[in-house]
Amino acid sequence: MSTPPEGGGAIALPEALVRVMGLLQPRLILAEACRLAAVLSGAEVALAVAAAPGDRWTEDSYAISRGADDAGHLPPPSVRAAMLDLQRQLEAAAAPLAAEPAAPDLAAVVQRSGREDALTWAVPLRAQDGAVVGALAVLSTDPQAPGRVSMADLGALGRAAEAALGNAAELAAARRHQERLLLFSDAADEAIWDWNPVTNQVWWAAGIQALLGPAAPKVEPAHAWKLSRIHPEDADRVERELDAAARDPNTTSWKAEYRFLRASGSWASVEDRAYFLRDRDGHALRVVGAMRDVSALRDSAERLRILAEVSRTLSQAALSPERLYETLARTVAERMGDSCAVRILSRDGTTVQTAGFFHRDPDFNRRLSQAVRIPSSAFEGLTGQVLSSRRGVLIAHAGAEDLKRQVVASPLRDAIPSTVTSSLLGAPIVLRGRVLGALICNRRVSEPYTEQDATLLQDLADRAALAIANAQQQDELRDREERLRLAVEATRLGTWELSPESRMIRCDQRCRELLWLPDEGPVPYDRLVQRIHPDYRARAAALLEAAEGGGGGAEVRVELRTHREGAEHWVEMHARRTVSEVLPLHRLIGTVLDISERKRTERQLTEAIRARDEFLSIASHELRTPLTPLRLQLETLRRSVERMIPGDRFAERMDVALRQTQRLSKLVENLLDVSRITSGRMSLELEQCDLGEVAREVAERFQEEAARAGCSLELNLVKEATGLWDRSRLEQVATNLLSNAIKYGPGHPIEVVVNAAEEQATVAVSDQGIGVDPEDAARIFQRFERAVSARHYGGLGLGLYIVRQIAEAHGGQIAVAGRPGGGSTFTLTLPRRPMNVLQVPSGPSIFTTGN
Ligand code: ADP
Repeated sequence: MSTPPEGGGAIALPEALVRVMGLLQPRLILAEACRLAAVLSGAEVALAVAAAPGDRWTEDSYAISRGADDAGHLPPPSVRAAMLDLQRQLEAAAAPLAAEPAAPDLAAVVQRSGREDALTWAVPLRAQDGAVVGALAVLSTDPQAPGRVSMADLGALGRAAEAALGNAAELAAARRHQERLLLFSDAADEAIWDWNPVTNQVWWAAGIQALLGPAAPKVEPAHAWKLSRIHPEDADRVERELDAAARDPNTTSWKAEYRFLRASGSWASVEDRAYFLRDRDGHALRVVGAMRDVSALRDSAERLRILAEVSRTLSQAALSPERLYETLARTVAERMGDSCAVRILSRDGTTVQTAGFFHRDPDFNRRLSQAVRIPSSAFEGLTGQVLSSRRGVLIAHAGAEDLKRQVVASPLRDAIPSTVTSSLLGAPIVLRGRVLGALICNRRVSEPYTEQDATLLQDLADRAALAIANAQQQDELRDREERLRLAVEATRLGTWELSPESRMIRCDQRCRELLWLPDEGPVPYDRLVQRIHPDYRARAAALLEAAEGGGGGAEVRVELRTHREGAEHWVEMHARRTVSEVLPLHRLIGTVLDISERKRTERQLTEAIRARDEFLSIASHELRTPLTPLRLQLETLRRSVERMIPGDRFAERMDVALRQTQRLSKLVENLLDVSRITSGRMSLELEQCDLGEVAREVAERFQEEAARAGCSLELNLVKEATGLWDRSRLEQVATNLLSNAIKYGPGHPIEVVVNAAEEQATVAVSDQGIGVDPEDAARIFQRFERAVSARHYGGLGLGLYIVRQIAEAHGGQIAVAGRPGGGSTFTLTLPRRPMNVLQVPSGPSIFTTGN
């Protein structure tokens, strides 16, 4: 046994224990423990070893001391061998030893191993679970050693080293844990917090920075700081619930959702979960929690909810346009801001009008909803910007000045307080490329709109577009219906609809009035037929036929005499077949018009014309009766005069009187013909005739008259033209044409050309007179129609009418060619065979007036 090494000096066991216990690093603990063991025992060598359970004890884990200040030497090989022995023995003995941590008999076990020159005393160092992880030993060649230290003291020192090593291990584990926690909390993108409810201190992991966002304020390690950033509407609840959970010893965890203030001033939706660490009495010592930003999640869930809600609202079919706009404005305002205006573009695209407006603040709502309605230019302000760009516009922070610039209507501008700031969002309402209007939202600047909000508003606008277009169409339809109703009312038209399936008629009041139908409900078609005069019921059937898609085509117009006691009534029913868009059914829709008055006028007209025709017929007969004897008398007289006083001028005067009589006869003949034609009494007496012969005879008759008028008359018979015709009528035609040629072309030559082809023959009379304007070419063949003034040329305008009637009665035609001032050629074309002979048109004068 040696003297205690210097530096160690005399040391009491308690002090040694405190020193060892005060150390926190395993190496230092071992070194100090073995130094103190050496000092206390006075042994030459003291050794401490510690390793992880199960590891071989190696030199790395030794601490060796040859005296008070001699630590850190490597043990000699013999010691090393002894240590391995010692490990084996101690581990083998571990189980029984575990029960007796002090184990004074352990030394004996070691001693019995018989290594006198090495090991003397040793105590095991154990881990908390009792496993042997090292030893504290004093080595001495002196069999009595350790004389100065009792086995119990050495054991105590071992226990102290054990405790200190345990502490150090725990500390390391805690550090590792902490490190892992930090790593995890950073990686987890959550704001992990550790709150000490006693001191109200809070430790924050880095995740809080992400949650606060860019330019985050200083994170204060205080619970009060956290509470101060919770939304005022949520703060009370969160604090109350967290307190209650902390106080309840049986509660181990807590969870809440609330809004947490971001650095930007917007609110993050967070989910906060916490776990309580309690002491034996259940007091919360620590609360460890994690805050997770669920805004995006919440947003997309909220987005879907809003979209669904708005779609549902908009799809309500019964919504009138006004209600649609109001509902849209309210729904959007409630979900997306403080206010929303539905701005609708006028049809001409120049102005916008607020069709719906809602502000969440009832006071604002009242004050603004009228002001916003004033129409404004479609090219100004926020709305103008949205409409012209067809893009959403987001103004996150708009000051009062900005706001006023965006708002165009002046009453609204005046209503904006000068201090107000706002966040604005606008989205165009577009359907198939057509801009219908815009949705404009506004909310407090403390919750500025984000790009996500802009996307959401656009989605809402897209959904609204279809509903708005529908509503507008309905509106337009209503307008049109109203206009139509007014028009129908003004014309006093009745309207009706006939379905061929049910044979029922639906009609309006006017229609019922005109047809004396019952005041209400659909009317069977047969009932309507009863209202028609029996003579006209067959015509009414045409309506039903048309409705069924047969007969008269898609459109019918019938005049019907209605059947009522007393006065005569007439209606005109006009109908069109339409096909239902929904069912493959035809319907007939139509109008009914009272034409009684028209019918009366028509009848009066017919009557007047009939009276005129009758007068003409009587008058011409009456005129002709004295004319024939007058002419005969004049001729006899002339002959007598010539015989008595030859060459006297008196005979010439008689000639003039005779010509005038002839002219009068011709006029009367014409009048008679017209009355025959209109009454259908003109008939043809067909015989084989030669047109050339007829022409020659008539021309000869006209020689004298032509000569008097200074016209040469040339006849050109190109080809023999024979046919089955009424000779006297052909003479009449030639007479009329030649007398016209002389009358309208005096002093100019006249040519008559007769020609024939296989099927037809023609006679053309050409003059070089005043000619006919092509515009008059058709008109002059009508009754009483003339193209010259009565002052210059006398006549009734009947000659060509009669010519045409005769031509057509033969199945032929008459035409004129020429130009004003350039003479004219009238050509009669006749078929050579009688099969083409037509009946002379006849019937009531009303149908032939003007023909
Ligand atoms: P009227 O000769 O009695 O007027 P017509 O029926 O014979 O009646 O002729 C109708 C109109 O046709 C005439 O008024 C005249 O304007 C025009 N017309 C007829 N024949 C000729 C002609 N040869 N040249 C120019 N105009 C003619």
